[in-house]
Amino acid sequence: MELIVQKFGGSSVANKERIFNVARIITKTYQEGKNVVAVVSAQGDTTDDLIAKAAEINPHASKREMDALLSSGEQISSALLAMAIEALGFPVVSLNGRQAGFVTDSSYTKARIKRVITERIEREIDKRRIVIVTGFQGINRYDDITTLGRGGSDTSAVAIAAAMKADLCQIYTDVDGVYTADPRIVKNARKLSEISFDEMLELASCGAQVLHNRSVEMAKKYNVNLEVCSSLEDKPGTKVKEVTKMEQMLIKGVAKDDDVVRIAVIGLPDKPGIAFRIFQLLANKKINVDIILQSIGRDGTKDISFTVPSDSKELAMETLSEHKELLDAAHIEYDDNVTKVSIVGAGMQSNPGVAAKMFEALYEADINIQMISTSEIKISVLIAKELGVKAMNALSNAFIG
Ligand code: ASP
Ligand code: MG
Repeated sequence: MELIVQKFGGSSVANKERIFNVARIITKTYQEGKNVVAVVSAQGDTTDDLIAKAAEINPHASKREMDALLSSGEQISSALLAMAIEALGFPVVSLNGRQAGFVTDSSYTKARIKRVITERIEREIDKRRIVIVTGFQGINRYDDITTLGRGGSDTSAVAIAAAMKADLCQIYTDVDGVYTADPRIVKNARKLSEISFDEMLELASCGAQVLHNRSVEMAKKYNVNLEVCSSLEDKPGTKVKEVTKMEQMLIKGVAKDDDVVRIAVIGLPDKPGIAFRIFQLLANKKINVDIILQSIGRDGTKDISFTVPSDSKELAMETLSEHKELLDAAHIEYDDNVTKVSIVGAGMQSNPGVAAKMFEALYEADINIQMISTSEIKISVLIAKELGVKAMNALSNAFIG
C-alpha cells in the first residue's frame, strides 16, 4: 500500500476551521486507499507566544526547559487534529516525538535527528490507522525532549518519509508552491511546477523561505519525493526533486536577502597571510562569511570586504577591531544599508552569458553593483538596500519574462 507523509504548517492548523480542513485533506488521502502519516506544527503563532511567555518568567531560561516548553505547541495541535479526524469517523492516533521514535543529538533548541525508530508508527499503520505526529521534536540520550530549531517540522516530515521509504512527502503550507520570486514583491512571479534540490537549497540560502533548509538537504540525501502544496486550495504544487526536465527555464528563482552587512577592512599591507588572518579570526568566532572582495587600495595597500549575516555584525566588528594592530589595518567599517539579490538556476552551468544578462538588466535599471559572487548555479550581487525590490523586478523581467 502506498505511504504518504503529509506535513501541515502552523497557519494550516491555526483554528478550528483550518484543523477540519486539514482533517479532510488527510482523510481524503486515506480513503483513496493510502496510508497516511501527518506531521503538524504548532498552531499559528503558538511557538512565538511560548517564547514570549518564557521571557516574562526568565529571560535566561535554560535551553532544556525551553525545549520542554516549546514542544508543547505541537502536542496541542497533534491531539486536536486527531480529535477532528475522530469526529469525521476515521481511525487515528496522535504520537509525540518520543512515541514516534525521533532520536536526536543533545543540542537543545537546535537538535539534529539521528534516526527515527519507526516501529510504533508501523504498528499503527498496520492497523490501518491514520498517524498524526508532532513535528519539530525528539528525545536525546539523556531522555530529555529536544527541538529541532525554528521551522523544524519540515525536517521531521522528511525524516519520517526517508526512514519509512514513503512514496511521497507533501509539505502543505499557506502558499501553493515555490515561486520564481516572492509574489508579494515581484509582479510577474510564477509558480514552478518543479525545482531541483540544489536549486531549492540555493534559493533558501538566498533568503527565500519556503522550506526548512535541513529538510531539503535530507530529502536530497535520501532521495525523498517532495512536493510543496497549499492546504487551502486543491491544485498541484511544486515538486522538489533530483533532476528536473531539460526544457525548463534557465533561471528558476530570484531571491533577496536583507539580513546582510558589508564589512570592509581598509589599508591592509599587500602581503601573503593577511586574508588568512582575517578569516581565521572570524572562523574562530563561527561567523559565516559570504561574498568576499579584495581590491587594491592606495600606496600599495589593499582592502578586503565581505558580507556577514546581520546578527553577526557586532561580533565581527568587535573581533576585527580587537586585532586591528595585528592585522595592520588602517581602519574597519561596516555598511548595513545593503541587500543581496541572487538569481538561481541549474541551467546557467551550460549557458554562457547569464552573468552579462544579469548585469545588463541591473544597469538598465540604474542599479550600482557593490559586490558580486558566483557559484555553479547562482549569481549574487550586493546592492543598496532601497534598490532591492527594483532589482528583483528587473531581474524577473529579464529572466522569467
Ligand atoms: N512550531 C515550530 C516553529 O514555529 C516548528 C515549525 O513550525 O516547523 O518554529
Ligand atoms: Mg510554526
